[in-house]
Amino acid sequence: MTGPPPDRPPRGPVCLVTGGAGFIGSHFVDHLLRTEPDWRVLTVDRLTYAGSLDNLEGALEHPRHRFVRADICDAEAMAPLVGSADLLVNFAAETHVDRAIASGEVFARTDTVGAAVLLEAFRRSRLSTRRRAFLQVSTDEVYGPLVEGRADEEAPLRPTNPYAASKAGADLLSLAYRTTHGLPVLISRGANTYGPRQHAEKMTPTFFAAALAGEALPVYGDGRQVRDWIFVEDHCRALHRVLVAGEPGAIYNIGAGNEMENRQMAERILGLAERETGRRGRLERVPDRPGHDRRYALDSSRVRALGWRPEVSLDEGLERTCRWLLERRPAAVPA
Ligand code: NAD
Repeated sequence: MTGPPPDRPPRGPVCLVTGGAGFIGSHFVDHLLRTEPDWRVLTVDRLTYAGSLDNLEGALEHPRHRFVRADICDAEAMAPLVGSADLLVNFAAETHVDRAIASGEVFARTDTVGAAVLLEAFRRSRLSTRRRAFLQVSTDEVYGPLVEGRADEEAPLRPTNPYAASKAGADLLSLAYRTTHGLPVLISRGANTYGPRQHAEKMTPTFFAAALAGEALPVYGDGRQVRDWIFVEDHCRALHRVLVAGEPGAIYNIGAGNEMENRQMAERILGLAERETGRRGRLERVPDRPGHDRRYALDSSRVRALGWRPEVSLDEGLERTCRWLLERRPAAVPA
């Protein structure tokens, strides 16, 4: 990783990354340390079941990186941390829809109230440096299911599960802080993201683990739910672009245009696992999620106008995810 010459301390902004020990956040931390030689990165994470310092193993020893374990809902803890940052990127959230269906309260607490705590701390911060920005990392799920076409940033918010509703709450609060207080707020709405380090409970790691272990892949309902897939590094590069070049107050959809039914994704993963194990697994239909949205699809022309393009094809991204799982969890492949 690069940095300023050893005789000069970094002069660039301090970027606070909340939820940076999770899947996308940890890739974003690595990305900033790699591409912004003058920035300092402050990662804050509560280290819930979903976060792990293993995800930050490359960053923890880095001279321009600092880690603090804290809860974004804790206003007292957040005030000095937010007060020290020029830029804030909020990844911290409860993120698993199945858990939100089982119990939604912690989602409202972390995803909505936590964002409110950060916005309030950002508003009260007296730091008046260079470019300031608060990027709220949101999701395509806030638009709810689409029958046809693609959602652009003006599409109505119709969240259907407690996770999506809690994220939509944070989006609305962010826009309100823009209107009421003039905060330099940005919102990104990313598509389904996959890649190394994703928690084992999510769909693609679950499919890979089952396929590599020779077990059936559990597919919800008829498996015909359509999702728009993006590789984690492409998502991070788009977030970086929005952070440095986005227009304050604007929303940016981030999708790579890889629309696919869940059962097609399962078939692709079966194919990759077959190459590794020599055996072809199978799909198994399991009862559908209540309120399972049929289709998400994003119009991402606004972020493309900032000069961003996805660089990793679905084939390459899945291949790299598979490699990582095999390196990290070699027990997944039976002898
Ligand atoms: P993740 O579950 O892997 O990581 C979430 C991180 O937040 C974890 O490290 C966790 O410890 C931390 N966290 C949870 N509660 C916290 C709290 N109260 N205080 C501080 N830290 C806390 O999630 P992810 O998949 O990396 O998603 C990151 C963000 O991106 C989320 O806001 C999510 O809504 C959004 N997003 C995810 C996807 C996706 O497909 N994964 C797509 C679009 C948007």
